[in-house]
Amino acid sequence: MKDYLVKALAFDDQIRAFAVSSTHLVEEARRRHGCWPTAAAALGRTLTVGAMMGSQLKGDEKITIRINGNGPIGSIIVDADSKGCVRGYASNPEVHFQYDSGKLNVGMAVGTDGQLSVTKDLGLKDYFTGQVPLQTGEIGDDFTYYYAVSEQVPSAVGVGVLVEPDNSVRAAGGFILQVMPGATEETLTKLETALSTIKPVSTMIDEGYTPEKMLEAIFGEEVRILEHQEVRFECNCSKERFESGIMSLGNDEIQAMIDEDNGAEAVCYFCMERHHFTAEELEKLKTK
Ligand SMILES: [Zn+2]
Repeated sequence: MKDYLVKALAFDDQIRAFAVSSTHLVEEARRRHGCWPTAAAALGRTLTVGAMMGSQLKGDEKITIRINGNGPIGSIIVDADSKGCVRGYASNPEVHFQYDSGKLNVGMAVGTDGQLSVTKDLGLKDYFTGQVPLQTGEIGDDFTYYYAVSEQVPSAVGVGVLVEPDNSVRAAGGFILQVMPGATEETLTKLETALSTIKPVSTMIDEGYTPEKMLEAIFGEEVRILEHQEVRFECNCSKERFESGIMSLGNDEIQAMIDEDNGAEAVCYFCMERHHFTAEELEKLKTK
């Protein structure tokens, strides 16, 4: 079954809700980057939020999420667009910490001495960046805080990634719930009660809940699904995009690659795809 997300309204349209199943997307990222379990969870949670944030964009708009808490994982970078394409990486994917319970300790891998930032590329060089200090490094809490402080939208963000003993991703998914302007006190109370009684998101994902079922678990019958959208790991890198990077190294450096390696290989940080340049191709990239 493919990964997908749903957009919905709940509690008399006073709550906007997103829920996603992202198992394949996160496994694709895990496999490409060779993530150890805790890094897979940290990157996977961020990719999962990214997919839902992307779905709130229009047309060609894009977002970039940057998380750096000065923990062992370094930076986590995730790009998403409005069409369900998400890509991302962690600067050190070989990180693994767990609590005594065996639960993955994402907060330890990410750290809390740093920021979460979200840059929206609205096209025509129009950018908007919101930034907040990291709270727990557990990702879900950090986005809840981001929405409250940077976007002034009271929200609840729940994300989970479960990793098998062989490091593959068993299940991933999550939700974002947002309080619409004008929501009543009664609705807020209902939402708080619902959130305090539901199973942890990782349990729901482990039990194979679909995005719809996750929202039903929270809102009961008071939810209205508006839209479905497929989501996937996809990188838009191409050989052409690396050409300008090679050109910027200068003729001497290009000549060295020709003399020493008879070519060059550029690796995309986001997807780890290798783009090979022959000596002949490098020759053409020299500035005359
Ligand atoms: Zn790529």
